[in-house]
Amino acid sequence: MDYYTYFKNSLDDLKNEGRYRVFADLERLVGEAPYARWNHEGTSHRVSVWCSNDYLGMSHHPDVIDAMLQSTQKYGVGSGGTRNISGTCHSHVLLEQAVASLHEKEAGLVFNSGYSANETALSTLGQSLPGCVILSDEKNHASMIQGIKLSGCEKRVFKHNDLNDLEKHLKSIPIDTPKVIAFISVYSMDGDIAPIKEICDLADKYNALTYLDEVHAVGIYGPGGAGVAVRDDQHYRLDVIQANFAKAYGVIGGYITGSKVLVDFIRSHGAGFIFTTSLPPSVTRAILASINVLKEDSSRRETLFKRVNYLKERLRYRNIPFVENPSHIVPVVIGDAHLCKLLCHRLLHEHHMYVQPINYPTVPKGQERMRLTVTPFHTPSMIHDFVDALHSLWETLQIKKAA
Ligand code: PLP
Repeated sequence: MDYYTYFKNSLDDLKNEGRYRVFADLERLVGEAPYARWNHEGTSHRVSVWCSNDYLGMSHHPDVIDAMLQSTQKYGVGSGGTRNISGTCHSHVLLEQAVASLHEKEAGLVFNSGYSANETALSTLGQSLPGCVILSDEKNHASMIQGIKLSGCEKRVFKHNDLNDLEKHLKSIPIDTPKVIAFISVYSMDGDIAPIKEICDLADKYNALTYLDEVHAVGIYGPGGAGVAVRDDQHYRLDVIQANFAKAYGVIGGYITGSKVLVDFIRSHGAGFIFTTSLPPSVTRAILASINVLKEDSSRRETLFKRVNYLKERLRYRNIPFVENPSHIVPVVIGDAHLCKLLCHRLLHEHHMYVQPINYPTVPKGQERMRLTVTPFHTPSMIHDFVDALHSLWETLQIKKAA
């Protein structure tokens, strides 16, 4: 086989379909958010960023930076090993207690990323429970899909947030067959929110375990940022609540919470937990600081929603269609990979406003979009100017307006 021709042809296919990803080379300087330096072909420009998942700007919070600097001085830069072999630091223990307490669960387990938490937990459950069937929402994240695939167990995909379809599947599986319902609270690409209570009702009726991803919810929803399940008082009905520290908490890493025995089971069998070096103590201390700030202070959350509402208001005023939802994620669907890419390219090059186009396979073909996220640091006047710039390109490129 001519391996390298194969690789090149495959990349050429991506380019022809308009979904070859070009990364913006950014420097997010402390004190300048939501602006960043964009390095491009030997030049450097100040650009505003409209697609960051550092939703609350916590990656630049002085307490979080301080915790990382001080713990680096004290503990160095590495954890020293896997959790099994000398890599369990005191801060891992504290962090696991903190996430368990946040979600009002008995135990927590920290992973190196949210991806690895989902992949490991779901693959471990699916491959260990005899004859297990995992029921997976069709809009689940790639890390969940990958975990289910790795488990090798039977998978049933139910229509997005569709209780009738989920029940249809549940009914067709013998009651004593082990089942896991895997779903998300705030869906990343559409920003809609799952009917957690009703899914838990079905899980009770058909004796299924429940697995909820709260990656886009923690830090933002619920008391002290404890997520949607706690906000809706359903957390105690969920067997696993998974989330990460890389979005609203602004750092890196992921976790699961649940009962002591379930968490211990994943800890003891999950390859993606066992066979990898743990997060450095500086990182876990920074996460602890971030969780504490967001537990105590809701001002960033409150300002975030004011900014989100203003963005939606301006988009409506300019007749730019977006997916209506109750969350902080504002999806503007363009529906064409080339056009979406061109729009984002011109926003960046002509207006110095950065939005990364979202293409297949992150969203289905024909659903290409801009996924807008603002932070408490985007001022109303920035939002006003952003929507005006978007509107002028919308007209120039003759993109369909809202009815
Ligand atoms: N779950 C969801 C819903 C996500 O959107 C992401 C994306 O980043 C992940 C899990 C993975 O988390 P992490 O970035 O921490 O690996």
